[in-house]
Amino acid sequence: MSQKISGVKGMNDVLPGGEVEAWQFVERTARELFQRYGYGELRTPAVEDTALFIRSVGEDTDIVGKEMYTFEDKGGRSLSLRPEGTAPAVRAFIEHAVSNQEPVTRWFYLGPMFRYERMKTGRYRQFSQLGCEAYGSRDPAQDVEVLDFLWQFLGALGLSGVRLHLNTLGDDACRPAWQASLVAHLRGQQGTLCADCQRRLETNPLRVLDCKSEQCQSVARAAPDIHGALCNGCRAHFEDVKRLLGALSIPFEVDPRLVRGLDYYTRTTFEFIASDPVLGTASTVAGGGRYDKLVKSLGGPDTPAVGFGLGLERLVLLLRATGRQFTAPPELFVAWMDDASRTEALVRISALRRAGFRVEFDPRGGSLKSQMKRADKVGARFALVLGDAELKSGEAQLKQMAGGEPVPVKLAGLGEFLSAARATT
Ligand code: ATP
Ligand code: MG
Repeated sequence: MSQKISGVKGMNDVLPGGEVEAWQFVERTARELFQRYGYGELRTPAVEDTALFIRSVGEDTDIVGKEMYTFEDKGGRSLSLRPEGTAPAVRAFIEHAVSNQEPVTRWFYLGPMFRYERMKTGRYRQFSQLGCEAYGSRDPAQDVEVLDFLWQFLGALGLSGVRLHLNTLGDDACRPAWQASLVAHLRGQQGTLCADCQRRLETNPLRVLDCKSEQCQSVARAAPDIHGALCNGCRAHFEDVKRLLGALSIPFEVDPRLVRGLDYYTRTTFEFIASDPVLGTASTVAGGGRYDKLVKSLGGPDTPAVGFGLGLERLVLLLRATGRQFTAPPELFVAWMDDASRTEALVRISALRRAGFRVEFDPRGGSLKSQMKRADKVGARFALVLGDAELKSGEAQLKQMAGGEPVPVKLAGLGEFLSAARATT
């Protein structure tokens, strides 16, 4: 017997029959909404030069430090499967000199990302992100447009119970002094920090603020607050973001300990956090913020930017937990009696499909009873038997699969009947 080969750990198949339909609903909703906001879709390769992520995400982050799938290709180049979408987007933005063509660029992307992580619910090694990048404006209105998109997107999916947490990380004018006082505070409590945070203290001290361990959280709670240290520019920016969110009636809470895992953020940072227990500890659905210096630091023109990344698996978990159905079962199932009616049945099925109806049949044929079982299994709304009598008279009895009296219909008027039935679902 040959040996069975399994899929790669942490990388999932998505099958039809409920799951992929939820994905498609999310993707469709995102694309339609992004179009309303004037964002065009960007598609970049799944693989990039490793240096791109080292220079943008940052060497001392979890992502670059321990989560990247890095390999050498046959030409000896160091390549990495993309762990996130912002760096590839910025790379493309610079490479195609997009800012020469338009001063403001709004992109979105949707696709697989790869991180070698410890797996659990909502945390996988291949996962999908939806994200956007808006280049060219420093105005808080641009930050708020991105937040408004996310708010409306979650609303369009019918997901309430996801809350916006908002913070600012200041900029070069005010962050260094605050960071120095933070580090001094953490050094004073060094013995209390978990082992990871003892290391972070040297490499990425901001991350100590969002460590999940209880002892680090209590140290973080007593740490100096960035809001007391903001320069005038950053303070005004943050106030304006809050005011504009208020004007759009988007609720939020300021979370002074919200820092992001990537190095490139300046000023606004945010997360959308779900309260549904189905996500376990992977409750952050989306995260993002402003990164005004990233484009320049990767060799491009000085271009401010703001964006988000959203984990689609987590969103789909939330959606499916609501119990909603996303499948579109057939409107009609056609069974045939014998070989003589088979051709005519196929012709009619094909014609109805061309007219836009969802119609199925059992390609195995078989007894009427087994064909009706199949009609039931696929969730058809109506079923129809085509035999000699029906084809001769041009009339048939439509069976209502959910129960009720059969409905007599003219075969020539099936399309009209199904259209009318659609209006009553
Ligand atoms: P976390 O703190 O959960 O590790 P992160 O800060 O690493 O998140 P980002 O890099 O900001 O996450 O990615 C944006 C979003 O992508 C996350 O909010 C989450 O929804 C999703 N995401 C990140 N890593 C994974 C993963 N391994 N599996 C599934 N979704 C993920
Ligand atoms: Mg992570």
